[in-house]
Amino acid sequence: MEFVHDVPGSRVVLRSGASLSAVPGEVERLGLERVLVVSGPRGAEVAHGVAGALGPVCVGVHAEARMHVPVDVAERAVESAERLRADGCVAVGGGSAIGLGKALALRAGLPLIAVPTTYSGSEMTPVWGLTENGVKRTGRDPAVLPRSVVYDPELTVGMPVALSVTSGVNALAHAAEGLYSPGVSPLVLLTAQEGVRAMAGALPEVAAVPGDSAARGRALYGAWLCGAVLGATVMGLHHRLAHVLGGSFGLPHSETHTVLLPYVLAFNFPAAPEASERLGRALGSADPVGALWGLCGRLGAPRSLGELGLAEGDLGRAAELAVGTAVPNPRAVTAEGVLGILRGAFEGREPRVP
Ligand code: NAD
Repeated sequence: MEFVHDVPGSRVVLRSGASLSAVPGEVERLGLERVLVVSGPRGAEVAHGVAGALGPVCVGVHAEARMHVPVDVAERAVESAERLRADGCVAVGGGSAIGLGKALALRAGLPLIAVPTTYSGSEMTPVWGLTENGVKRTGRDPAVLPRSVVYDPELTVGMPVALSVTSGVNALAHAAEGLYSPGVSPLVLLTAQEGVRAMAGALPEVAAVPGDSAARGRALYGAWLCGAVLGATVMGLHHRLAHVLGGSFGLPHSETHTVLLPYVLAFNFPAAPEASERLGRALGSADPVGALWGLCGRLGAPRSLGELGLAEGDLGRAAELAVGTAVPNPRAVTAEGVLGILRGAFEGREPRVP
């Protein structure tokens, strides 16, 4: 056995009501005196609630986060932080709001506290992203890893079932690709398996009773573990394809992950039998690809890239873009292989492991 386990820690609090009861204490622990709360426009009300709990320590709410962190959005947030003389940031929302918080950590040096409201996992990674002229750049920097992460199930009870399902499968994708990431440590493998078990168990409960705070807590627990896998590993072909389809064809983030995942795993698993076996154990099935596809179907997730707005004529170009950048992947990435994955996912036909 050979591995390198190098995972910088963040402090994590998961508790019902924690966005109001725990965030002020996390701010105090970090010695912050002037924090800026950031969110997306739709999350402004929740952000104002967190700001209210912080009292005078909060110097403002900046509710302008947008998908994929456009550079002008990041610049305006930095200006706002400088004008208000903020010494820290609390990001409330999904991956887009946390992404803006990371831009503030990167460009203004503000320590970041994340209060996630989706299962995207960004809060557990040192990866930032910025989009300029339609091109998204990403990088790793320990400065953008949140110092504290506060999970509050109450913030997710109102998340629509459709978004809960696709965001949850987005989390499963991090764990699934972590299972065949090169040099992955045994602790990360265990984290991935437990993350999949927790999330796959919680999603049907969430879909059945969306307001069930305990089930929401179990889903956030799964999201935390899957996000930790994302932060500790490098992702393969699945994430590359999702990046291409989101970045160059404007497809929605979590929905694209959800449609693609079973097809990419069906392609990769013949070259990654151990990962397949571990995912199967986590899902309680000898056929993990079939189990995942079945779960997504039962939860009413979108089935095809066509449904998400991709045109059939774009498949060839998407395959070309995907093979243009090398990714660590258990199976060789060829234009023909990628086109096969994309065609299957475009049509939404049942994926089969060759
Ligand atoms: P998002 O943050 O864009 O949120 C999607 C939509 O859901 C938004 O309209 C938002 O207002 C709404 N929403 C969020 N929480 C909600 C809730 N609790 N109830 C109701 N609506 C809610 O999407 P996302 O999937 O969370 O994140 C995607 C973005 O994060 C992408 O840009 C992706 O690249 C990035 N990301 C980055 C990393 C990283 O490590 N840097 C990891 C994962 C995702």
